[in-house]
Amino acid sequence: MIDFELTDEHHLLERTVREWGAREVAPRIQELDREHRFERAFLTQMAELGLLGISVPTEYGGAGMDYVSLGLASEELEYVDTHLRVIMSVHVGLNGLTLLSWGTEDQKRRYLVPQSQGTKIATFGLTEPAAGSDVRGIQTVAVKKGDRYVLSGEKMWISLADVADHFLVIAWSDLEKKKKRDTSGLSAFIVERAFRGFSSGTMKHKWGILAGNTGFFKMDEVEVPQENLVGREGEGFKIAMFALDQGRFTVAAGATGLIRACRDASVKYALERKAFGVEIGQHQLVKEMIAQMESDYEAARLLWLRSGWLKNVGRRNTKESGLAKWFATVASERAAGDAVQIHGANGYSDEYPVGRFYRNCKGAVIYEGTREIHKLMQADYLLGYRVDRPTRCELPPHQKAATTR
Ligand SMILES: Cc1cc2nc3c(=O)[nH]c(=O)nc-3n(C[C@H](O)[C@H](O)[C@H](O)COP(=O)(O)OP(=O)(O)OC[C@H]3O[C@@H](n4cnc5c(N)ncnc54)[C@H](O)[C@@H]3O)c2cc1C
Repeated sequence: MIDFELTDEHHLLERTVREWGAREVAPRIQELDREHRFERAFLTQMAELGLLGISVPTEYGGAGMDYVSLGLASEELEYVDTHLRVIMSVHVGLNGLTLLSWGTEDQKRRYLVPQSQGTKIATFGLTEPAAGSDVRGIQTVAVKKGDRYVLSGEKMWISLADVADHFLVIAWSDLEKKKKRDTSGLSAFIVERAFRGFSSGTMKHKWGILAGNTGFFKMDEVEVPQENLVGREGEGFKIAMFALDQGRFTVAAGATGLIRACRDASVKYALERKAFGVEIGQHQLVKEMIAQMESDYEAARLLWLRSGWLKNVGRRNTKESGLAKWFATVASERAAGDAVQIHGANGYSDEYPVGRFYRNCKGAVIYEGTREIHKLMQADYLLGYRVDRPTRCELPPHQKAATTR
């Protein structure tokens, strides 16, 4: 049976996040965006709302909600501003859910619990100055010395680089395999900001998601205890791809919220602005843009909801989460472009929010798999060039969903 009903808990969450965003963030976002300022108080408030550990079981400090709830929160947060959803993507999606699935009990106690409670903030470090899509091209190395790994390298374009306390870092632990570009030589590590040799900075010339923090971090012979190896040595690539399955889900849901924000702003303006003696909503070509936003919004929402449902019942969703992310982000770029168009010259000023939507949407067409990489993935599934094999660790199904299946 197909059930499109959200639960009362889902509706309450949606309403709570929406009202918080409208009350605390919306009145300040224009100023924060203009000043390129990251507001730490939002993190505290998001922690109080339980968002920073939303789909993490309560035994690990989380709110114990299902994965659809993670999507709903992401959609509502990006409705207000993309930088809030980015926090969910890196802190909960890429990092927290990966530790939940691949981390040892000790790692979950030491890292996942404080992260889920929001007393520590976490992110994900894969990209480097010379390698993004081409993961095999990263240069960071982890050399084993006794009971430690010594990490050296630089990560770039990292969300929350200057904010986070904990970093899930992908590095080459087998230097022979690095030469051969064999991904079974990659490993994943938890690196703390407090470790000696770690430094970070904020990227100053970014032109979107300006209220968010994006930067770089450097590891100069950072000693990481063996207990901070996530999974087994050589599982780093699989862990990175697993993390992206979670992050992409939040990006898809977030971009869906951005489409809705574009739609709502466009409808409002189309009813206010007059041209040729009538409100511009009366012009068919304006209607066409608004109608496209609505169809994109509904389709994007169904795609991420399906992916959330698959997560809830414990089924693999790499293909579905990738498709949801690709569709929603490309559609959000279309929606934001049209929202600016509907606003005419006013859309070209930051007095109206649609200019911010236009700048913010583009990042998601690039990160967590570019538009082109997602196209290739979907074609490769169809052509039989790509098949998902089971991984050693899987995302735990949501308990309620699993028992009512
Ligand atoms: C705002 C922002 C936040 C980010 N946050 C994080 C983060 O928290 N952690 C993190 O690790 N990274 C992060 N990233 C980095 C992001 O994941 C990378 O930018 C992304 O993976 C693309 O890599 P690249 O920029 O090196 O582009 P490249 O890989 O160099 O690609 C350049 C162009 O070539 C195309 N291309 C590359 N390979 C192929 C191919 N095989 N076939 C067809 N076309 C191809 C791409 O689609 C793209 O159009 C962030 C990026 C941004 C913009």
